[in-house]
Amino acid sequence: MRWSMVVSVLLLAGAVDAPAQRRPIPTPASVLGFAPGTDRRLTEWGPVVDYFRALDAASNRVSVRELGTTTNGVPFLAVFISSPANLLRLPALRDAQRLLADPRLTPDSAAASRLAARTPAFVLLTSSVHSTEVGGFFAPMEVAYRLAAGSGPDIRTVLDSSVLILVPSLNPDGVNIVGRWYAQTLGTSTEGAGPPELYHRYTGHDDNRDWYAFTQIETRLVVDSLYGVWHPQVTMDIHQQGSTGSRLFVPPYMDPVEPNVDPLLVQGVNALGTAIAWRLTTDGLTGVSFFASYDAWTPARAFQHYHGAVRILTETASASLATPVTIPFDSLRVGDDLNPRERSWNFVAPWPGGRWTIADIIRYQTAAAMAMLEHVGRNRADWVRMSRRVAERAVRGWTDWPYAYVIPTANQDATALATLLAILRHAQVEVRTALGSFAVGPERFFAGTYVLPLRQPYASFARALLEPRLYPDIRQYPGGPPRRPYDATAHALPLLLGVRVVPVPDSIGAALSAPVTSPPPSYRALGLAAQPGAPPGRPFVRLGLYRSHTAPIDEGWTRWVFDTWGVPYESLVDSAVRAGGLGGRFDAVILPSMSPRAIVEGLSARRYPARLAGGLGAPGVQALREFVDGGGTLIALDDACDFAISALDLPVTNVLAGLPPTDFYAPGSILRTVVDTTDSVAEGMPPQSVAWFEGSPAFESRDPLRVRIVARYPARPDEILLSGWMIGGGNIAGRGALAEVRLGRGRVVLFGFRPQYRGQSLATLPLLFNAIRTSAR
Ligand SMILES: [Zn+2]
Repeated sequence: MRWSMVVSVLLLAGAVDAPAQRRPIPTPASVLGFAPGTDRRLTEWGPVVDYFRALDAASNRVSVRELGTTTNGVPFLAVFISSPANLLRLPALRDAQRLLADPRLTPDSAAASRLAARTPAFVLLTSSVHSTEVGGFFAPMEVAYRLAAGSGPDIRTVLDSSVLILVPSLNPDGVNIVGRWYAQTLGTSTEGAGPPELYHRYTGHDDNRDWYAFTQIETRLVVDSLYGVWHPQVTMDIHQQGSTGSRLFVPPYMDPVEPNVDPLLVQGVNALGTAIAWRLTTDGLTGVSFFASYDAWTPARAFQHYHGAVRILTETASASLATPVTIPFDSLRVGDDLNPRERSWNFVAPWPGGRWTIADIIRYQTAAAMAMLEHVGRNRADWVRMSRRVAERAVRGWTDWPYAYVIPTANQDATALATLLAILRHAQVEVRTALGSFAVGPERFFAGTYVLPLRQPYASFARALLEPRLYPDIRQYPGGPPRRPYDATAHALPLLLGVRVVPVPDSIGAALSAPVTSPPPSYRALGLAAQPGAPPGRPFVRLGLYRSHTAPIDEGWTRWVFDTWGVPYESLVDSAVRAGGLGGRFDAVILPSMSPRAIVEGLSARRYPARLAGGLGAPGVQALREFVDGGGTLIALDDACDFAISALDLPVTNVLAGLPPTDFYAPGSILRTVVDTTDSVAEGMPPQSVAWFEGSPAFESRDPLRVRIVARYPARPDEILLSGWMIGGGNIAGRGALAEVRLGRGRVVLFGFRPQYRGQSLATLPLLFNAIRTSAR
């Protein structure tokens, strides 16, 4: 027998299900040209795609699908990994998952149990949504290789009992951006520093905060083509944290958990997270933490929690991109909720300190993913049953929930309404229309009104996003400072979009249609966007958007809004501002939200080359002053207001400057504003609106002749907070949220909030568009 035949026979004997592997399973190194985890080596996206295609060609356990293309036009992949038998019956499994996910289709519980008994668990493993978390470029290759090449009983159980859908990167563009940047800077003083641009064209690090607004292509591909089709029960998302804390975080998450998440899912997260930690400790990995730093409040990162799946976040300690770091034990730093130098119940085996490399990162990430897969494989029935039970409870309804939400069509902004309906459709929430008129209390609604009955599989998504909620008042100790939430505390879509949604306690007295699909929204900024088909020409307003090399995320979102709504603009880097003469080229210049220090100082000259280092500096500040003096409009967003006030000596005081969080705190909340609709910046606005407030300023005028307050917070402190969390509302009661300040022949518009917040706050976009439009000269 030839040696190759011996190998074939051995492979056959150990293989999962019948057919032999087609050809030798390629290692990641054979395609990349280096082993993942080699110090100072990263990859771009092309070789990652090549590897998974090679794996698909070689292994009948692997099937690659291209879901579409990214924002920058490269392939977006999902890799299905399971036993050959499971992969051959994927169409049947897809049908089974749909029936299990919607108990209305399979009301017979015995039939559902039989179906569940022969259906594998579906696991979605996603990676490198954040592109400077570079271990995530490689860990998916390691996991896929082990599953394709492995032959032990654990691997067999995983392949037989589950279908893994592996998304090697949720942001392939960022793999290119960071991979190229790192290669360019190797051996220079910049090696290991972050790139001087956002690592997703529009959203940068916010690309994982889009899981309820679905503004970005990549989010929609995953939601529409994976969640909405395969209904995974278990999901894991691979991330990295700072260098000086624990080596790896897994759930349980800290409180608070958003209250619409089914308790069964919370318990599932706790069970799976601690099972992973148990396994890693068994295998000798130290420094594993849970119940620290990360909470489960915002749906922006947790689509799964409203779609019948547990979400396991892993956060592994970082190096300097792929450059090793050395972290002595004594330099490990106490975080908000964990001391990495002390053993505790949620940190049972401290890491001793020392060298930390990309190989360590990949080792921890891969170990956590394999522990998750093996646990799910061994406990398949529990996970299938959990999701089914969650769906049954949702369809049966919760007694303290409304019966339905009514979404009127009259007196609503058509674009905002279409946006809301599109969001609900991406989330697989069914919306129907009333077939006759009906009344809710004294109010009458006509046939054609949208109705969202809550007894449906993904009702919790609708309730979490449609009802404004207050964040619990959590202090570090009684009467002490607030305990910082991990993320924003508000997400009420009716407030952000400016759409009226009415909860209805009981069944409405009208028949309902089948679920409807409404036409997708189209976006156009009135008076700013060019007419469709019009020849290119001078825009109505010549708009410049400041684009710092520090790459603030708000700049990206502003660009996304302008590109989406058809607003012409030109990006302005530091050197272009410093060169002066802005008045000849622009009517308005926008400073996106970023710290005054970042605007003035920019990137450090010690770390970055001269062409990127330094911010506006004195020449840039002078150029902006001349621009406004000469009749231009400077529009400052949120944090940039403090820069504009001090750099241009505006007669405006930020009344919140220097207040400690015990006196005032609002970490991502929606506040009520009262709008002066006689001002041209507020044209077309309702008399009351909202402000997305996230550590923002609030204004007091020192010169009523030069300063006009366009929007202010209500005079009564208890009327200010609409959703989220705020301490010390009295400090901003009656103060300005939006101000126009005359300066020379021009003006400065100060937005003390983010009018274009993450592309979601359609309610306040008209204020921004008006501020731009009224800059025309
Ligand atoms: Zn991350």
